[in-house]
Amino acid sequence: MNKILERIIIDNKELTKKGKVADYIPALSKANPEDLGVCIIDMNNNIYTAGDYDKKFTIQSISKTVALMLAIMDNGEEKVFSKVGMEPTGDAFNSIYKLETGDISKPLNPMINAGAIAVSSLIKGGSSEERFERLLSLFRKISSNDNLKVNEEVYLSEKRTGNKNRAMGYLLKDMGVLEGDVEETLDVYFRQCSIEVDCIDIANIGLFLANSGTILKTGENIVSEHVAKIVKTFMVTCGMYNSSGEFAIRVGIPAKSGVGGGIMGAVPRRMGIGVYGPALDERGNSVAGYGVLRDLSRELNLSIF
Ligand code: GLU
Repeated sequence: MNKILERIIIDNKELTKKGKVADYIPALSKANPEDLGVCIIDMNNNIYTAGDYDKKFTIQSISKTVALMLAIMDNGEEKVFSKVGMEPTGDAFNSIYKLETGDISKPLNPMINAGAIAVSSLIKGGSSEERFERLLSLFRKISSNDNLKVNEEVYLSEKRTGNKNRAMGYLLKDMGVLEGDVEETLDVYFRQCSIEVDCIDIANIGLFLANSGTILKTGENIVSEHVAKIVKTFMVTCGMYNSSGEFAIRVGIPAKSGVGGGIMGAVPRRMGIGVYGPALDERGNSVAGYGVLRDLSRELNLSIF
């Protein structure tokens, strides 16, 4: 398996030149656009790696999957989906305009920024610190990594420049979707996006979802199979921004990408996958990471369809 991964990394390395590192969050622009790494963890807990699998990056939008789980654990499905919908948008991940048209009463899904901010507002705790600490504990548990922490530079950079997210937070408050203090919710959101991970960490989270909400190593059940299914379904329909339809056809793996360059994959009952390549295509997906997953899917027959 390591040989296959190494070859796939070599085959896709050229693609890194076709993308651009995200720079709308200034601290992200420091990543090396040529980095490319992959990790697979299978149902026997075998770990296979290649390339820059141990480089650290911020989890960004991939965090939306875990925040959604905690919000459902805290509030139940009915309450969460009274605040956020289940439909793909076809718009950019940070699009604000549908919120303002008056046609919708809540963000369309929890994988776009507006929906994710609504979800973060539902995480329980007495303060933003406590709410974030609860979320971080869940990340540590399901990634089997007690050392996960926030990259302070990225967090401060997002907090300083995240004006569009801030605008969406206040709009959501105005719509009656977001309860509580907007700035505190945004603080939880900016911190969750700034958690630093590597390919092994996100492969472990993918494995947890592939294993229906139970940590494979310990056998500890964290969420019901039903909740794990909800998350994986959102990954299929909305996980790759507005390339999700094309990705489902070409790759067929439930996956969630982030503008830090990571993509987390969860192949039900087979494996978790973590890919990192910070050069992004125009829709915000790792351009070479997409190629790695496409090749892996073909080679190992991973499409769920
Ligand atoms: N922190 C990023 C933002 O809010 C996350 C976006 C992403 O990874 O899609 O813009």
